Amino acid sequence: MASNGVDQNGSASSHTPSQRYLSTRGEDEGFSFEEVVLKGLANDGGLYIPESIPTPQSWESWKDLSFPELAYEILSLYISPSEIPPADLKDIIDRSYSTFRSPQTTPLVHLHDDLYLLELFHGPTFAFKDVALQFLGNLFEYFLVRKNQGKTGRERHHLTVVGATSGDTGSAAIYGLRGKKDVSVFILHPKGRVSPIQEAQMTTVLDNNVHNLAVTGTFDDCQMQDIVKALFADKDANENLNLGAVNSINWARILAQIVYYFHSYFSLAKKSSTFKVGDKVRFVVPTGNFGDVLAGYFALRMGLPIEKLVISTNENDILDRFWKTGKYEKKKARGADAVGGLAVDGAMAHPDGVKETLSPAMDILVSSNFERLLWFLAYEFAKTANMDDQWNKRQAGQEVSKWLKELKATGAFGPVYQDVLKTAKRDFDSERVTDPETIETIQNTFKDIGYVLDPHTSVGVTAAHRSLDSEDGKAHPHIALSTAHPAKFSGAVDMALRGEEGFNFEKNVLPKEFVGLEQREKRVTDSENDWAKVRELVKLQVEQELKESN
Ligand SMILES: *Cc1c(COP(=O)(O)O)cnc(C)c1O
Repeated sequence: MASNGVDQNGSASSHTPSQRYLSTRGEDEGFSFEEVVLKGLANDGGLYIPESIPTPQSWESWKDLSFPELAYEILSLYISPSEIPPADLKDIIDRSYSTFRSPQTTPLVHLHDDLYLLELFHGPTFAFKDVALQFLGNLFEYFLVRKNQGKTGRERHHLTVVGATSGDTGSAAIYGLRGKKDVSVFILHPKGRVSPIQEAQMTTVLDNNVHNLAVTGTFDDCQMQDIVKALFADKDANENLNLGAVNSINWARILAQIVYYFHSYFSLAKKSSTFKVGDKVRFVVPTGNFGDVLAGYFALRMGLPIEKLVISTNENDILDRFWKTGKYEKKKARGADAVGGLAVDGAMAHPDGVKETLSPAMDILVSSNFERLLWFLAYEFAKTANMDDQWNKRQAGQEVSKWLKELKATGAFGPVYQDVLKTAKRDFDSERVTDPETIETIQNTFKDIGYVLDPHTSVGVTAAHRSLDSEDGKAHPHIALSTAHPAKFSGAVDMALRGEEGFNFEKNVLPKEFVGLEQREKRVTDSENDWAKVRELVKLQVEQELKESN
């Protein structure tokens, strides 16, 4: 293993800055971008972060760049040219965003007053996860093609991506990886438990390398995640399949998402007569696993004038509670003590304490990417001891390990030191939004300006209104992130707007791409809720796929 970020090739590339990555738990360092993308999770169980966050002096000169041009400027600060030559990186980026329906890729729309909405849903599956997964799919392919140069048949390096979903990640991963050479993708979903449109989006993709598994006898995402975890921990699976992950801990996903913070900032300067490049803005981000808002944190640290990032959670509010108390604590299922660890109040509470809400892509117990922010908070705290940078980094890794161990053992850690919480509050605010409030904001926004919000976006817009009404917030324009097209979550939209004058789902909401989707040919295999059976199914289908492609 390479160490200390020293370039193993010595002088060969010493004139080009080479970005290296380390693990948040401090036991793993010196990794290249390619290693980080293909591995996903570090050996010590931590997440990869860059050894340093670049602070480009010339960022203001990017103001007129197109989305792909801007993506190139930003991504090349994190990916050494010795790893991906500039022309190749440009090509990967161009192909990734050519699939978006909007010429601006992620357009900014003015809602009213000082509130703007960043529409992130113009990619193939109508959700913001496309921004990252279109790019990640092309990256996987690029690295594999390079590894496989001159190799044929069984010598070729083959990646098997396995993921589980009841929501947006599955379809975005499928569209990111469909038709890619040397990659198979398996997406598990709980049979009959995903919305018809989400199910159709996944199962109507007929490419040979796309495999949908409908798992019977399961009711939620967590059980699906457990199957995937068991597979990744299994010796047989690892020996026979080269497993890859596309979940939100993959660094490349965070990286791709930094771009739209810069892009929307520049769009705002063009749209608003009072806002100039250099002025401060607030971003409001509907948050689940903390990937999206973490990308905003990187933008802030790179020098984009962000006054605050406002985290907006639904009733699964572990993050909101952290910002209010400094304690990070899993919620127990209501009634958990009553009946042998099982929740008793029906559909609303799951055995592990996740609450089912109208914004399901944010229904989480803990936020996987929060660990990355914790590292930066601990690092900043360590710096006050005036030791060298090596020491600070080691200290940060140890602190994060300690917190995460405590979380695993007791379901909570903290309260963290006051200074750590203070640093968190300097850059972030947080809000918690209930289901009734989510519905109300969808209604009011439609009545006032005729715009239809999806429920996740509505969680953000509700928080944005609160922030705009606050003493600190009202001085700044707000950009709320719109993470999904309303047609993807038609149940909540219908609940909010049915009977509303002038509202017609087919006319106001449904995109032409969704018309007739559910009637198209589907490909899906049923599987039992048993990870070893899933493993055998995956092995079998990969084997068949390899036979057919050779
Ligand atoms: C995934 C998702 C989110 C949450 O994003 P995180 O990066 O997990 O915080 C919000 N809205 C929608 C529609 C999503 O699909």
